[in-house]
Amino acid sequence: MTGLLSFKHGVHPSENKDITSSIASKRFPFPKEVILPLSQHIGTPAKSLVKPGDHVERGDVIAEASGFISSAVHATAAGIVKSIELWPHPNGTMVPSIRISVDPSSSQMRRTRIVPRWQDVKDEDLSTEIGKAGIVGLGGAAFPSHVKLCPPKDQPVDLLLINGCECEPYLTSDHRTMLELPDQVYEGIRIALKALGITRAVIGIEANKPDAIEMMRKTKPDDLDVTVQPLRVKYPQGAEKMLIKAVMGLEVPSGALPSAIGAMVQNVATAANVAAVFESGHPLIERIITVTGRGIRKPGNWKIPFGTKLRDVIEHCGGFTEDAAEIVFGGPMMGLGQANLDVPILKATGGILVLSKDECKRQDILPCIKCGKCLEACPIFLNPQLMGALAKAERYEELKADANLNDCMLCGSCSFVCPSNIPLSQLFAMSKTQLRRLPSS
Ligand code: SF4
Ligand code: SF4
Repeated sequence: MTGLLSFKHGVHPSENKDITSSIASKRFPFPKEVILPLSQHIGTPAKSLVKPGDHVERGDVIAEASGFISSAVHATAAGIVKSIELWPHPNGTMVPSIRISVDPSSSQMRRTRIVPRWQDVKDEDLSTEIGKAGIVGLGGAAFPSHVKLCPPKDQPVDLLLINGCECEPYLTSDHRTMLELPDQVYEGIRIALKALGITRAVIGIEANKPDAIEMMRKTKPDDLDVTVQPLRVKYPQGAEKMLIKAVMGLEVPSGALPSAIGAMVQNVATAANVAAVFESGHPLIERIITVTGRGIRKPGNWKIPFGTKLRDVIEHCGGFTEDAAEIVFGGPMMGLGQANLDVPILKATGGILVLSKDECKRQDILPCIKCGKCLEACPIFLNPQLMGALAKAERYEELKADANLNDCMLCGSCSFVCPSNIPLSQLFAMSKTQLRRLPSS
């Protein structure tokens, strides 16, 4: 592993990717109903365009973007709108959601959407088409892609970084995307390069996916200036700032966007879905999702329609094992724990992890022994020990002003190494929530 590009600090959790990495993705059956929250992305919730009783076809737009940073929502199955009501969201809140009773007699063919040939669209108008299809970043952040493809005019981008790291343990959906849809990933790269008005891209892939590295090298079109760059296996290599540091050797300044140093980062699955918009008029209504962990009977990779309830996924994957203990949306480092089986799968859901008792042993939280391990782990070079003390004392303003809480990306590396089992990143997440509630000074 030495000699490969990477960043300083970081951690090495057990990978556990072998549970699903060699399982090809399969289409998930359509459930009886889908629940589509109006808020599945960073930004203002979408505005509903339907009412109870409306018939919708698969792929119809059912909610439009409302505001600059927002994203449209499409019907992920044909059926009848049952209600628009508050429904449990994976983030733990109740969110207005469109509930659709899926028509069991429908063939679930997508409604034909007329889209222009991307080659004929002006560079600056490509993002509009991508926005209409409801594409958001599929690496976890769910930031609307059409906004990202329009960097500030005074920060021109000259390098597109395609993120194929998938550094979260257990998850293999990006890995499968590269193996199963390499041509689509390259088509998405072509479109993103045109939208940005640039010619150069680098695909960063952790070295624990040699077959994906080989596939992306083998299928690279000769006319594209793209480098496939293997990277050292280290968490959080897939975080935007860490990927930029590894590939470009540059640091994104505190509080700035990657465009401040001329870069834009897009996940491999996002690239593949951008291509689908123009190939088939396909809006973002499903994605490859890894269902894994030793607490689920039949792990695998599935193309699951968004809005499918967690309980339907668990049931179709054989149910829980006897020692299932915890469900997480995402990976074990940054994922969100789930307590309600009625929450729907969202655009940002790359994985569903069911941990067994052995995999999530809870240990007593002990006092800090000032060992400094958290400082050595933090990829942003923060001081998690000090931050943890300030968070516990509820000194939120100091945490932000003096300890740079805003730079913390909640990667969980500090919690992972802490011998006292202090849930540092959870404390930082709660502190960020508290600060948002405080009146701004
Ligand atoms: S959670 Fe924040 S403080 Fe902890 S290692 Fe990650 S970036 Fe650093
Ligand atoms: S790793 Fe844990 S025990 Fe060690 S200094 Fe950091 S907070 Fe304290």
